[in-house]
Amino acid sequence: MDGDREHLIIPGDKLAVIEEFEAGEGTYVKDGAIRANTLGVVHKNLAERKIEVKRRRTCRIPAAGDVIIGQVESAQAYDISIRIYFINNETSQKGFVGMLLLREDENRSNRGVKNRIPCKVGDLVRAQVAANVDMIIVLSLLCSNCGVIYAVCSLCGGKLVKTDTRLKCVECGNVEYRVVAPDYGRVKIP
Ligand SMILES: [Zn+2]
Repeated sequence: MDGDREHLIIPGDKLAVIEEFEAGEGTYVKDGAIRANTLGVVHKNLAERKIEVKRRRTCRIPAAGDVIIGQVESAQAYDISIRIYFINNETSQKGFVGMLLLREDENRSNRGVKNRIPCKVGDLVRAQVAANVDMIIVLSLLCSNCGVIYAVCSLCGGKLVKTDTRLKCVECGNVEYRVVAPDYGRVKIP
C-alpha cells in the first residue's frame, strides 16, 4: 500500500492535492497542494486517505561504505562539512558531521574540473563514507550516484535545474557549478 516509501522526500516536494489525500504528519498544504515539510519517506494511508512524511530512524554510526545524505554546513575551498541526515536512506538524528574529502587529482580525473568547490552551503548531497576514524567521518563523492541532489540559486534562492555541465536558476538565469548526482532534481516521488 505504500510502495513509494523508498523515495526520499525533500521539504517543499509536492506529494498530492487536497482532493486526493488529507495532509498528515510531516506535510503542509499550500494552494491546494500537499507538500512535505521534512526530509523523509512518504507513507500513503489509503484507508484514511491520509498522506504523511515519516522519518525512519537509525542509530547506526557511519561506517566505511555507507551512503549518506546530508546538508552542506560550510564550504570553504577544500574544507567542506556536511551534516548527516540519512545513513543508507534511514534518518539519523545523532547530529553526525562528516568532512568531504577532495583531492585535487580526484577532482580533475573524475569530473574534468579543477579547483572548483563541488557544493555550496545549504545543498543536499549524497556521499559515501570513506572512513570513520574515532568519529572523524570522511566522506567522498566518488561513488557513481554521489553528488549534489538538491540546490537552490545562491543569488535569489530560486530552483536550479540541470543543464549540460552546470546548474541554471529558473528565476534569474544565474549559472552555478556543482558536482551533481545523476538523479539531481529527481530525488522525490514521481
Ligand atoms: Zn537565481
